[in-house]
Amino acid sequence: MKLLFERSSEGRKQNILPPLTVSEYKFDDKLTRKVEPKLPEISEVDLGRHYTELAGETHGVNDGFYPLGSCTMKYNPRINEEMAALPGFTGLHPLQDEAFSQGAMEVIWQTGELLKEITGMDDFTMQPAAGAHGEYTGLLLIRGYHLAKGDTQRTKIIVPDSAHGTNPASATMAGFSVVSIASKEDGSVDLDALKAAVGPDTAGLMLTNPNTLGLLDPNILEITSIIHEAGGLCYYDGANLNAIMGHARPGDMGFDCVHLNLHKTFSTPHGGGGPGSGPVGCKANLAEFLPAPLVRKDGDTFKFFTPEKSMGRVRSFYGNFLVVVRALTYILTLGKEGIPEASEGAVLNANYMMYKLTGHYDMAVPGRCMHEFVMTLEELKKETGVSAMDVAKRLLDFGIHPPTMYFPLIVHEALMVEPTETESKETLDKGVEVFLKILEEAKASPDVVTGAPHNTIISRPDEVKAAREPKVRY
Ligand SMILES: *Cc1c(COP(=O)(O)O)cnc(C)c1O
Repeated sequence: MKLLFERSSEGRKQNILPPLTVSEYKFDDKLTRKVEPKLPEISEVDLGRHYTELAGETHGVNDGFYPLGSCTMKYNPRINEEMAALPGFTGLHPLQDEAFSQGAMEVIWQTGELLKEITGMDDFTMQPAAGAHGEYTGLLLIRGYHLAKGDTQRTKIIVPDSAHGTNPASATMAGFSVVSIASKEDGSVDLDALKAAVGPDTAGLMLTNPNTLGLLDPNILEITSIIHEAGGLCYYDGANLNAIMGHARPGDMGFDCVHLNLHKTFSTPHGGGGPGSGPVGCKANLAEFLPAPLVRKDGDTFKFFTPEKSMGRVRSFYGNFLVVVRALTYILTLGKEGIPEASEGAVLNANYMMYKLTGHYDMAVPGRCMHEFVMTLEELKKETGVSAMDVAKRLLDFGIHPPTMYFPLIVHEALMVEPTETESKETLDKGVEVFLKILEEAKASPDVVTGAPHNTIISRPDEVKAAREPKVRY
């Protein structure tokens, strides 16, 4: 495919600026270019075609099924984009005075109020820019809480091995040491191991729920009470709240703080690393440590507010504000009935696919799942040489984006599938059919699968090199 610069034809400029009707402002010579920038000269129609062609080289949720587990690549309603594009939001400067920012402040406040209700928490900050950033912020709340009590020996965070990888990483970043505890055969937290791990040095526990196997832990109330009895606090990784929202609340399960991934559960397109938003909610006893500024409602006006022992800012200004606008639109569009329905759809779709594939593919933990399920291709690889990576690559030939591969780490040859609630039964059936066809191919002619993809523009790039040494210059 040609680059814009290669399509450029000299003189094919688009002079869209009207003639000057005011006197020209002369910049200081020091500030101006000596040579004109080399910009491509191309007509609008060719420009449009260029970007459409470019978009066609990748696979997005608008192209087809995108069952990427742990990421929730769901359909993002267009009305969210319309709201986020309102000039009152996009034209607002973050340093503008409170009096002229009331609408935007109301968005932050109202989203917080709704998330409080959805999670059972008492307060929220919208500052963190991603899930992992939210975890870090939540852990600083826990740290602030213990230190304010003079409790300096609580330096350890307990993290089950079924947690998302960001959990131990965030705990380390926040200055804690991590105690990892092994899961039981059925994927749940081993209560005996947990009891043995707690002590006077326990600052808290981080629970990813549903865990990375896509399972709801059956002993949550017991887990949180073991931690509380030991003097620790409980953190809920709610990145995937789409599995439980409207049905159960972390605040009712004994958790002291939680982060949500607005870009997963509450719909924002987030391919390629952004934009994200990882709001953190907490119980009243942690609220005084929240990042500043927060928005408070005072009569009919909204005011910025700094909690007494605030940790300060964790991000510039107010977080990824337009992601918050999208999330608010999503929540208000779905309403009280739609929120639980969305999680029912997510769980139903995942279980439907899991059920249809059971007996053909091996499940990491058989039985029921929540919003996603994990298969292990260890046996298939032993029998045929076809790996999880090969199956993932072959899916591309059928217009399906690969599921998450080799995650969670506790499952060998893992494929983690999350259909999301917005997919139709027809799409799920087609997905199942393709998975089964690839399984047949793996047994009959493994070369077809190990050599895949055959129909894409590039077949198997060196993914690590592409990420570490991207060529971004022409
Ligand atoms: C995605 C995810 C995270 C990390 O969120 P980012 O926005 O990528 O930082 C943390 N925990 C769980 C369970 C997740 O699925």
